[in-house]
Amino acid sequence: MILQLHKSISTQEAANLAVELRAFHITTNDNHILITSSGMKEVPVELENKIEQYWVFNSDMQLSAKSFLPQKRQICIGDKIIGGNSMHTLLIGGPCSVESEEQIRQSAALITSLGLTTLRGGCYKPRTSPYSFQGLGYDGLMLLVKMKEEYGLTIITEAKDATHIEEIIEHSDIIQIGAKAMYDQGILHACSRTTKPVLIKRGFGSTLQEFVQAAEFVLSGGNENVILCERGIRTFETGTRFTLDLCGVAWLQHHTNLPLILDPSHALGKTYGIPSLARACTAMGVDGLLIETHPNPKVANSDASQQLTHEEFTQMYHSLKPVAEAVGYKII
Ligand code: PEP
Ligand code: MN
Repeated sequence: MILQLHKSISTQEAANLAVELRAFHITTNDNHILITSSGMKEVPVELENKIEQYWVFNSDMQLSAKSFLPQKRQICIGDKIIGGNSMHTLLIGGPCSVESEEQIRQSAALITSLGLTTLRGGCYKPRTSPYSFQGLGYDGLMLLVKMKEEYGLTIITEAKDATHIEEIIEHSDIIQIGAKAMYDQGILHACSRTTKPVLIKRGFGSTLQEFVQAAEFVLSGGNENVILCERGIRTFETGTRFTLDLCGVAWLQHHTNLPLILDPSHALGKTYGIPSLARACTAMGVDGLLIETHPNPKVANSDASQQLTHEEFTQMYHSLKPVAEAVGYKII
């Protein structure tokens, strides 16, 4: 249940009530909000004259639910806006991993040359094998920061566990929580205490309900800037790396107030269908796309088979513009 307290209730009193109810206490638009589990269906009698309004739910999808906040949340990324009424599709490009200054500089130059703003590169890679490239870690993060400063781009990089989350929060404009880290309580709690935008990727074995509950961890700690990312789930199909759940996308768009970014690169796992999938995703009216591109995919240290060349990325970008326009969106 979500309870919005009367304006007359002081911060201290709200905090005390939260302790009594074992509820989360956040402030939005100067309103004190208490959030309990969805198991609570009735306002406790002692609170009756302290409540402005309240919402009852049938699952722990609460702050993220349209029934609580009908309009899509608006999120600022640098000087760009997604969500709200912006009708923007943020095209995020860059390599799977930051590999060297030379490589990430070429990616930064590509993004800039297309008039785009957001560069992505992984530094702490959650690999399936311990023998694969694990990323450059902090040195990679510093290379991204260098590109941010030199090219005036915003940057996004992923956290794979809580040991390096603070440095990512400090330096990255968007904090990406990887699919394998979706349940990581250390990461979720750290992300709930910042106001930086957090992009949560759906675990490939997670239901939509579990996915939005991961978002609730961040929202209930007071960070309102949460973006969901569908990147494919595991099904019986082995012909593609994962299955991009577009029905799930429709469900999330219908039920939640969170901006949504789609990642066809990790879903398909091969370059050949990425441009057409990206167009299909764009046609759904989404808030962003995350597409992997590498100056020389053949020698990429991770996800080599799915990264577009810069030429392919450029062509895809131009082909997305009319599709976005047709559904009232603009690629930024
Ligand atoms: C990535 O974005 O490079 C990545 C590892 O993705 P995911 O967490 O979706 O597997
Ligand atoms: Mn990748």
